[in-house]
Amino acid sequence: MIPLFRVAMSPEAPTRAAEVLGSGSIGQGAKVEEFERAIAGRVGRDEVVTVNSATAGLHLALHMVARQDDDDGEVLSTPLTMEATNWAILANRLRIRWVDVDPATLNVDLDDLARKISPKTRAIMIVHFAGYPVDLDRLRAIIDLAEARFGFRPPVIEDCAHAWGATYGGTPIGGHGNLCVFSFQAIKHLTCGDGGALVLPTEELRRRATRLRWFGIDRTADRLRNPPDVTEWGFKFHMNDINASIGLANLAWADEVLARHRANAAFYDRELAGVAGLELTERAADRRSSFWIYPMKVEDRDGFIKRMDEAGIMTSNVHERNDLHTAVRPYSSLLPGLDRVAPRVVCVPVGWWVTEEQRTHIADTIRRGW
Ligand SMILES: *Cc1c(COP(=O)(O)O)cnc(C)c1O
Repeated sequence: MIPLFRVAMSPEAPTRAAEVLGSGSIGQGAKVEEFERAIAGRVGRDEVVTVNSATAGLHLALHMVARQDDDDGEVLSTPLTMEATNWAILANRLRIRWVDVDPATLNVDLDDLARKISPKTRAIMIVHFAGYPVDLDRLRAIIDLAEARFGFRPPVIEDCAHAWGATYGGTPIGGHGNLCVFSFQAIKHLTCGDGGALVLPTEELRRRATRLRWFGIDRTADRLRNPPDVTEWGFKFHMNDINASIGLANLAWADEVLARHRANAAFYDRELAGVAGLELTERAADRRSSFWIYPMKVEDRDGFIKRMDEAGIMTSNVHERNDLHTAVRPYSSLLPGLDRVAPRVVCVPVGWWVTEEQRTHIADTIRRGW
């Protein structure tokens, strides 16, 4: 079976991790700092704070910018994502206001988002689905209008878990001045085993996140002469040197991984254009996807999955729509775009492990019909 996901572990990682394991210092230390500087170099911003997962990062990002325990406060978010995106809203005791999904991109529908911004909006969560960037210029223009109308700018949190290495307007995702959250979980392009990073819009937020990921304690304070006071309580969300050393070992490796995902995606774009019963997602000239996955829209999805399965090809929609879960029933709303597209979304293997022979087999199988 050609799998949909595999762990991209560089052959250097075991040695680099073993060095840390034997060093007597496995907590948050020099490797974490080195990894943060490396990520800063990649996204082109200095304000990087690592955490132990993107889930923790999303929780912390929202915690810092949205008011808590506020009965009216709502966060606009997409239902088509990993549940981590939206459970961070619930963890912050805020309400979810679902925004419809654009069937062309599988990202949030920006027209619907513009309509739903209101004085109750505390933040906006977006996801670069599959690694295909949301139209960030258009989003900024929508927020400019909201500011003119309501007198405040809802902060934007970008869930960049799929989007390591993606670019929008020539700038890496993570570098557009919002609160951005990356995942370095096992099967993401760049893995630490588990891990995540926040890229923050200001130095002040960077310092605050650095304290809040570690109980609110300033670890750089001189504990003997001037024991640090905790002015704001925080979490245990920090990354440790073991995970950071794995991330450092995989950083260059992830460039190769990304290139292979893109090459396979370009092949499918050419080979699958115009196939009956199948529609590809949008490709705009101003952005480059990281193609963490390769979603398409197909008629008779069950038949498609069965046909692929018979040919030894694993397929899946990867993420279930979140809005139908019982846990979020109170927020249920009409989402016609998502209703139309969700039953048709399916992903085929696109990753670095897919050989030229395998991708040809995948394209041929699809072209023969289902
Ligand atoms: C993987 C993923 C997450 C969660 O990342 P963790 O690092 O495992 O917490 C969040 N959002 C999306 C869209 C993801 O794919």
